[in-house]
Amino acid sequence: MAYLALYRKYRPSRFDEVFGQQHIVETLKNAVENNKLAHAYLFCGPRGTGKTTVAKILAKMVNCESEAERPCCKCASCIDIQESAHPDVVEMDAASNNGVDEARELVEKVKYAPMSGKYKVYIIDEVHMMTTGAFNALLKTIEEPPSFCIFVLATTEPHKIPSTIISRCQRFDFKKLSKKVIQSNLMLVCNKESINCSKEAVSLIADLADGGMRDALSILDQCIAYAQDDITVQDVSDVYGVATTADKIELYQLIYRQDVKQLIEKLSEIETNGIDIRRLTTDLINIAKETVVYIYSKNMDTLSVLSEENAKEMASMFDSNALLKYIDYLIDTLSKYRDATNTMTYLEVCLLKMVEYKEEPVTVKTEEPVIVVKEVPKEVKKPVVIENKSYTDEQYYQMLLKATKKIKEVDAKIISGIFADNFLGKEKQLIDLVKEAEIMASSKTNIILTVGNRTEANFINNMENNEIVEKMMEKYLPNKKDIVCVTREERDFLITYFKNERSKAQKPKKEEEKKQEETESPEERLASLFGKDGFDIVGE
Ligand SMILES: [Zn+2]
Repeated sequence: MAYLALYRKYRPSRFDEVFGQQHIVETLKNAVENNKLAHAYLFCGPRGTGKTTVAKILAKMVNCESEAERPCCKCASCIDIQESAHPDVVEMDAASNNGVDEARELVEKVKYAPMSGKYKVYIIDEVHMMTTGAFNALLKTIEEPPSFCIFVLATTEPHKIPSTIISRCQRFDFKKLSKKVIQSNLMLVCNKESINCSKEAVSLIADLADGGMRDALSILDQCIAYAQDDITVQDVSDVYGVATTADKIELYQLIYRQDVKQLIEKLSEIETNGIDIRRLTTDLINIAKETVVYIYSKNMDTLSVLSEENAKEMASMFDSNALLKYIDYLIDTLSKYRDATNTMTYLEVCLLKMVEYKEEPVTVKTEEPVIVVKEVPKEVKKPVVIENKSYTDEQYYQMLLKATKKIKEVDAKIISGIFADNFLGKEKQLIDLVKEAEIMASSKTNIILTVGNRTEANFINNMENNEIVEKMMEKYLPNKKDIVCVTREERDFLITYFKNERSKAQKPKKEEEKKQEETESPEERLASLFGKDGFDIVGE
C-alpha cells in the first residue's frame, strides 16, 4: 500500500476535528443547519491553516445523504468528496489554472444542475493568482449564481483580490494556529503512529511550522523518514538545518567570553550545516528576550525556548541592558537581510558588535568567593556609541506651532510618490521606512514622522542615517527639512503636551495671536492638525 502522508491521513473530515478555527466552523455549521448558506465564501489566511479542508467539509455537509449527522463520512457522496472524485465538487488551483479560458469553461458549466448531489461546490484555491480576465469571467457568475451553486474562494493574499469579488463574498479569516495547539496535535499523531518524539523535538517542529498544521505534519513526516520511530531534537535539526538551543547558547557564551576566533568558527560550522541564518537570528532574539523577561520575573513559566537552566546561565552572563542592546542589533540585522545576498556576513558583523558591546561584568551571586581572573590586557576599545537625534518637548512644541495641515498633505503626497526601488541598501531601507511611517506634522522647515516602535524610530533618528534621510528627501521636497521620528506613544504624549501648552499660552495672548494668524486661528489649526478630539492625526 502506498504511504499516505500524515497531513492527508490526519486531515480533519468533520468540523469538530478542525483545530483552532472555532469562530468559522460554528458560523458555517449554523448556516448549513438553518439553510442560510451564502453563494460565495472567501477563506483568507496563512498556508496550512485549514482553508481547503474546511471548504471540503462544507461541500460534504451540503451534499451528505445521511438524514442524521452530517457529514456522515460514510455515504457515497461523502467518500467521493473525501477522495476528490465527486462530479459536483470541483477543486481548482488558480495557481495552475489562472487563465481566462479555464474560468470561462467553469462559468459555462456552472449553469448545469448538479449531477448527483444537491449542490455544486467550486473550491478555488490560491484565487488571487487568477488573471483580471479570469476574475471578470468569474464575477458575473458570482453576482447571479444558480441557487444550487456554492463558491469557496481560498487565498493567502486577500489584498490581491478585486474588491468587486470581495464584496460578493462572505469572508472568513483563518488564523495561524498557536504553538500549543500544534504541539498537542503533533503529540496526538505521534501517539497514534507509535512514534516516540521528544518534547523538545515536538516544540522545535511546532516552531518551524509557524502556525500551519499541514507544515507541522509534513515536517514530522520527513523526520520519521530520517529517524524512524524515535525522533530527537538533533534529528529535527539535522533534517531541517536549524541550530539547537545548545548551539545558540554556545554562541552567546562565545560572545560573553569575547572569543572572536571560536565565534567565527562556530558560525561557519553552522553555515556548513545549511542552517537558515534568518531563523537563527530570530532565535537569538527570542533567547535574549526570554532571558530579559526571566531576569525580571524569575518565573520559569515565561520560558518557551529556554529551559530554566539555560535562562539562569544566560542571566549570569548578561544583564538586561546588554541583552536589550543585543536585541536592537539583531533586529537591525534582520531588517538588512531583505536586500542581502550574503546574510551570513551581516550576522557575523552583528555578533562582532555584540562582542564589542560589553558592560560592567555581572556579579555572579555564589556562595563561594568569586575569583577574578585578570584578563590579558587588550587594545583599548572604542565604545559603541549610537547617537540619535532628539529634541525636547518644548522644541517639538515649537515645531508643531509652525506645522500646517496643508504642508503635511503636500509632503505626504510627495513621499508616497517616491519610488523606493530607485534606491539600494541602507538608502532603500530608510526610504521604505519613511514611506511606511505616518507624518505627524509638517512645516516649512520640519517633518515629524511616527512609526510603531522604538527600533524603527531610532533607525531614522540615528545621526548617520538621519543625515542620509534628510539629503535624500531634499531632492524631492521643496526645500531641505529637518526630519525626526517619534513612536506612537511619544506622538500621543506630544499631542497632549501641545494641547496643554497651547491652552496655557492662548488665554492672555488671544487677541494678539488672532492678528498674527492670517488664515487659521490656533483652535482651527489645532483641529486641523489633530482633529477635534486631538487624536485624529493620521492625515490621509
Ligand atoms: Zn455522508
